[in-house]
Amino acid sequence: MSARSQRGWAARTDVGRIRSHNEDAVLADPPLFAVADGLGGHEAGEVASHIAVETLRDHAPRRPDASALRRAVRAANREVIRAAREGIGRWGMGTTLTAALVHGTRLTIAHVGDSRAYLLHGGVLSRLTEDHSVVADLIRAGRMTEEESRSHPNRSVITRALGTDPDLKIDVYEVDASAGDRLLLCTDGLTVALLDEQIREILAANREPEAAVRALVDAANDAGGIDNVSVIVIDLSADDTAGRGVRERERALRVAVTAIGWLVAAALILSGISFLTYRYARSRAFLIAEPDGTVSLYRGVPGSIGSVELRWLERRTSVRVSELPPARQAELAEGRVFDSVDEARAFLDALETPGAR
Ligand code: MN
Repeated sequence: MSARSQRGWAARTDVGRIRSHNEDAVLADPPLFAVADGLGGHEAGEVASHIAVETLRDHAPRRPDASALRRAVRAANREVIRAAREGIGRWGMGTTLTAALVHGTRLTIAHVGDSRAYLLHGGVLSRLTEDHSVVADLIRAGRMTEEESRSHPNRSVITRALGTDPDLKIDVYEVDASAGDRLLLCTDGLTVALLDEQIREILAANREPEAAVRALVDAANDAGGIDNVSVIVIDLSADDTAGRGVRERERALRVAVTAIGWLVAAALILSGISFLTYRYARSRAFLIAEPDGTVSLYRGVPGSIGSVELRWLERRTSVRVSELPPARQAELAEGRVFDSVDEARAFLDALETPGAR
C-alpha cells in the first residue's frame, strides 16, 4: 500500500483482500499520472506494470503533446516486450496502461487495456476511456449488457495489453475539461468491485483527493477486495499548477546556469586556474550519486580544483544507486570519471537498461 498527497491530487494502490501481491503500479509525477495493471502472475505482472510506468515516466513529454505521449506508451510497450524476451519477468507477461497528462483543464490521455479514466463534471461521472476487453466488445456489439458482464467468467480477459504486440494500437484522447472537474484513473480492481454510480457518490462525497482515494480503496475492499486496486484522483483547476511549477523550475535553472557561467569565469581568475585546466575539465565527464540517491551525468571533474568546482550538469536520471550492484554503488559515490561526455552517456545508457547492470 502506498499513499502520496500533494495539493490537488492523491494516489493509492492496495493489494486487496485475497491476493498475496500487488501487480498494479501507479505513477503520480505531475503533470503525468498513470495506472497499470500487470498480467502474468507473480514475478511477471508487477514487473510488467512497473517497467511500463517507469518507461512512460522517462519518455513522456512535460507539455500537452498527444503524439509524444503516444510515442512514450509505444516505448513502454517495447520495453515490456524486450524485458520478457530477455528473461526479466516472464514470457507472456503484459500490462494495461492508462495515462494522463494534466495541464490545467487540458487532459491528454493514452490508454490500453481495461483500466479506466473517468471525469466527474458537474456531479456527472463519465468514462473517458473504452475498455479493451472481451466483455466490452460484447457490450458494444449489443450481445451483452453491462449488468451481465459483471458476472461473466471472462470479464477480466483483455484484448489489448502492453507486452504482446510490437504494433500495439494505443487510444489517445485530448479532453478539454473544466475547472472544478475531477479526474479519476483506476485499475479494474475498482470497477469490478463498484458500479459507476457508487464511484460517483464517493468522488462527490469526499472533498479532499486523499480522502477520496482512501474511500474508493476501502469500498473496493469492503466489496470483497478480490483484486489489486489502484486509484488516482486529480482535481482540475484553471491555473496550471503542475505545468507552472515545471516552467518555474526551468526558468530558475536557466538563470542559475547563466550566473554560474560568470561565477566560474570570476573564480577561475581569482584562483589562478588556467584556461587549459578549464578546457580540460570541459572535455571530461563523470557520473555521480546525487544526495537524493539518483545518478546524474556531469561534464567536468568530480570534487574541486582549488576552491572551484568544475562541473556542469548534463543529465539527471531516475537510475537509483541503491538498485545497482555494490561495486557500482561505491564508484558512483565518489564519481566515475570518463574521457568524454559520449563515453559517460554510453555507460549511463547501459545503467538505464534494466538487466544490463
Ligand atoms: Mn486488476
